[in-house]
This record gives sequence, C-alpha cells and structure tokens, in this order.
Amino acid sequence: MARRSDGSCAMCGKDRTQLTKLILGVHGGICPDCVHICNETVNGPDESRTDGATFPFIETGQCVMCGKPENGPPYTRLLHGARGEICLACLDLCNDILNSEPVSPNGS
Ligand SMILES: [Zn+2]
Ligand SMILES: [Zn+2]
Repeated sequence: MARRSDGSCAMCGKDRTQLTKLILGVHGGICPDCVHICNETVNGPDESRTDGATFPFIETGQCVMCGKPENGPPYTRLLHGARGEICLACLDLCNDILNSEPVSPNGS
C-alpha cells in the first residue's frame, strides 16, 4: 500500500519546515534540491555549484511521485535517493515545474 505524502520530500526526507518548496506528485513530493541532484546525476555534475552529491541509478523499484513500478530494461531507470526513487519521466516534469515557476532565493 502506498503511503500518502506527509509533506516531506520523498527522496531526502526533509520536511516542509526545512523546505522552501515541494513538488507534489500523485504519491509523494520531491524538493528542488533533490531535483538538482537528479539533474546533475543525469547530465553530469555542474562544477560551479555542485557539492558532488549524486543519486545512484537503480533499475527496479517504485517511483515516489507517480507510483509506477519499474522492472528494469526496457523501461527507464530510477534515481535512488535516501528515502525513495524517482523515475526520469517525473524528473522531467519537476524540471518543467521549476522552470516555469522561479524558486524564491530567500524562501518564505
Ligand atoms: Zn529532497
Ligand atoms: Zn515517476
């Protein structure tokens, strides 16, 4: 049974009080920090900004945002965070959301 989002990032586990923004999927949310780490994992590290953190790829698991299970090739891989996994389709979606809605630098 999938657990509903409790307002914390499904990948790193930070809760809403520690986050300026949480992108909610059908099953859970992910914070912009994790999206950035995912991007660097996929596209290669951004040396001007990164702290070197990346998520490992895994081929089987269940996406924390859309809830779809991945069972390895030929499907997309998942990025494995401390608390859960996200599929590349949901990562694209997160990027679209972040790009269309600028993140406030000082939060709220
Ligand atoms: Zn996070
Ligand atoms: Zn997904």
